Amino acid sequence: MTQDLGQSISLYDTREGVVGAGLVIRRALPLRERRTIGPWCFLDHFGPATIPDPREGMWVGPHPHIGLQTVTWLTDGEVLHRDSLGSEQIIRPGQLNIMTSGSGISHTEETPPEHSSLLHGVQLWVALPEADSAREPGFEHHADLPRWRSGDVHITLITGQAAGERSPARVYSPMVGMELLVGRAGAHRVALDPRFEHGVIAMEGEAVVAGQALPIGKLMYLPPGHDQLPIETSSTARLILIGGEPFREQIMLWWNFVGRSAEEIMKAREQWLKADPRFGAVHGFDGDPLPPPEWVPLVAPR
Ligand code: MN
Repeated sequence: MTQDLGQSISLYDTREGVVGAGLVIRRALPLRERRTIGPWCFLDHFGPATIPDPREGMWVGPHPHIGLQTVTWLTDGEVLHRDSLGSEQIIRPGQLNIMTSGSGISHTEETPPEHSSLLHGVQLWVALPEADSAREPGFEHHADLPRWRSGDVHITLITGQAAGERSPARVYSPMVGMELLVGRAGAHRVALDPRFEHGVIAMEGEAVVAGQALPIGKLMYLPPGHDQLPIETSSTARLILIGGEPFREQIMLWWNFVGRSAEEIMKAREQWLKADPRFGAVHGFDGDPLPPPEWVPLVAPR
């Protein structure tokens, strides 16, 4: 269901799904009515979930990516990332893992044996512009990110640029990703880049954003032209804000791949099935590679 709130601000229902062995997620991107916000093409909000056993937490076996960057951000818990470049990195709350698939990479994500009882976070994908889609794969971990306050809003700049600050994470198009932690009840404002379109989800608490209640499980979309994000809270709240210049390239998102044509996607699917060296190998994960879905040749570019 979509509500048009005037000034073309829209509120969308996210879709519930399951990742790995049973981790419930709310998928805010892609939605049928909205495929991208800036270069952001995927947004899963997982948890807060209690994790009695690692295999009931994040447990995603070896799988490939092309044409995108994965961004992982936690507010509770830990996730162990391994990839075909040999990276092995535990991510904790307030830290960023960003992996650039470029022409091809594979990775695993799992709740480590030593872990907190609670897991809560987001995973997002950023579409690479075509000019950068075949670049070398890479992985970055950033524990030190730009942080500042706007009144009672504690801002962490996860990716991109805002307020004259720049995240150390390498990105390939004009964009922003932020956590907004509202520390107390009141009326707050966060500056936006009016060239960007933006999306907002609530991870914790309740907030009225741009005049409209934004409960957990909804995605708010703001078109370009907004230079302020008004936020009202009756208590504390935690929001994720994403944005960027509208992504003008036609992309096809299928399984874990971003491509430009069905041929490109089908080729990557075949190569993964045949363990092609394009995707390398992940070592140390106790489980089998994930098989791709059946190819149904009905998917058209958006
Ligand atoms: Mn992945």
